[in-house]
Amino acid sequence: LWAAECSVDIQANDQMQFSSTAITVDKSCKTFTVNLAHSGQMAKNVIGHNWVLSSSADMQGVLADGGAAGLDHNYLKPDDPRVIAHTRVIGGGEKDSTSFEVSKLKAGEQYMFYCSFPGHAAIMKGSVELK
Ligand code: ZN
Repeated sequence: LWAAECSVDIQANDQMQFSSTAITVDKSCKTFTVNLAHSGQMAKNVIGHNWVLSSSADMQGVLADGGAAGLDHNYLKPDDPRVIAHTRVIGGGEKDSTSFEVSKLKAGEQYMFYCSFPGHAAIMKGSVELK
């Protein structure tokens, strides 16, 4: 029997790159888990990374409010309802994971994942698709 993969491992590095630019979430999964690892050496206040999921339409608003919220809030507005899932901001050598209910994703809607550390999302972003 083939079982759907309901998790993904993603690395982020000191060059502000995610190891993936597209994530497919299998609709047969109840929950989906993202395991983020920072493979670089930079401290989280210098080149920290998180993994944030929202609709494409909400991305710029989440980033604008997140930049104002600061590192203490993982560069996200606290309890931002536009954020579907997110990890903490981590530095080199650190890891964090997040899980979300797949029912929060709608077929046909466009979703993005990105790092909300100020300036990083220009490069550090990718698509999330429900299939
Ligand atoms: Zn980052």
